[in-house]
Amino acid sequence: MSLKDRFSRIIDYMRISITDRCNLRCIYCMPHELEPLIHKEILTYEEIIRIVKVGARLGVRKVRITGGEPLARKNVQYLIRKLKEIDGIEDLSMTTNGVLLNRYAREVKESGLDRVNVSLDSLRKERYREITRGGSLEEILSGIELAEKIGLDPVKINAVIIRGINDDEIEDFARLTLTTPYHVRFIEFMPGTDNYWSEDRCVPMKEIKERIYKTFGELIPVKVRKHGPARYFRISGASGVIGFISAVTHHFCSECNRLRITPDGKIRPCLFSDTEIDLRSAIRRGADDDEIERLLRLSVAVKPEGHRISEDIPAGVINRPMSKLGG
Ligand code: SAM
Ligand code: SF4
Ligand code: SF4
Repeated sequence: MSLKDRFSRIIDYMRISITDRCNLRCIYCMPHELEPLIHKEILTYEEIIRIVKVGARLGVRKVRITGGEPLARKNVQYLIRKLKEIDGIEDLSMTTNGVLLNRYAREVKESGLDRVNVSLDSLRKERYREITRGGSLEEILSGIELAEKIGLDPVKINAVIIRGINDDEIEDFARLTLTTPYHVRFIEFMPGTDNYWSEDRCVPMKEIKERIYKTFGELIPVKVRKHGPARYFRISGASGVIGFISAVTHHFCSECNRLRITPDGKIRPCLFSDTEIDLRSAIRRGADDDEIERLLRLSVAVKPEGHRISEDIPAGVINRPMSKLGG
């Protein structure tokens, strides 16, 4: 069985934000003070497991756990173990800021996590601390090394490039792939609520690519299994690869295969559309699995064709903080 939407896209990927809380406060993602959801608003692990079981029955094959900071939610190892046991789930990954990787990488790997994406927006100690409002670069880098060493493979590093903040590090990020096997992915800065976004702060992917080409020469296209929205290239002789995710300037909507589940249990068919389907209320009113299935199908049926950021700002602004959405 598979979930197909109105535009013939097969939806087989669920991104689940398991908490809105975070141990960092990145300037482009979260306001310094953000009222967190109260405990009972957050989906329980059992509710998440149930949703994924029904999803898997409908053809969901990939699950990503995100947040807020997913490693900061208590006993995430339990959730990982249970999700990994679900028939049909072939790929279980996590997006993390890496702060707790030194502490938990081994446990999450042993519980069944296949791989991690780590967000890292600066390779300079002071700047990293400023962007994240307090994070320690050494801690993240050693966490990344550990993740790679124990086989959370491939380790992907996500860098959101913001003009005037970290765009002078594009070459340094690219250089990292010369000596490490990491997949370094450049991500365009997306407009959100109160997140400093402006058109001129968003560095178009074309510009990032040209700068790398100027310094390192030809970028050789490479095929990466489960490439998602990124396009991958290798600098000649490099160990790692470079990925480009042009979320703003070049829609990858025609290949979109995902549904998002927010920490408070809403299905969000598209990042840039306000439409949400309230799964949590249905579950807590006693919905059976068929009803959950109906709501998942409904979300796929209303999934829009794509976003309109470049044509129609502010209609393209994301109306929830990313931490409450699961970027
Ligand atoms: N805390 C984890 C982390 O930082 O990896 C997971 C949640 S975070 C919301 C997920 C991803 O969203 C991160 O890679 C972050 O850089 C990205 N993100 C947040 N706000 C963004 C924005 N306005 N534009 C582009 N990416 C954004
Ligand atoms: Fe936290 Fe991730 Fe948002 Fe940074 S990007 S504030 S680490 S949720
Ligand atoms: Fe998918 Fe919507 Fe993002 Fe396009 S904007 S890739 S349709 S979630």
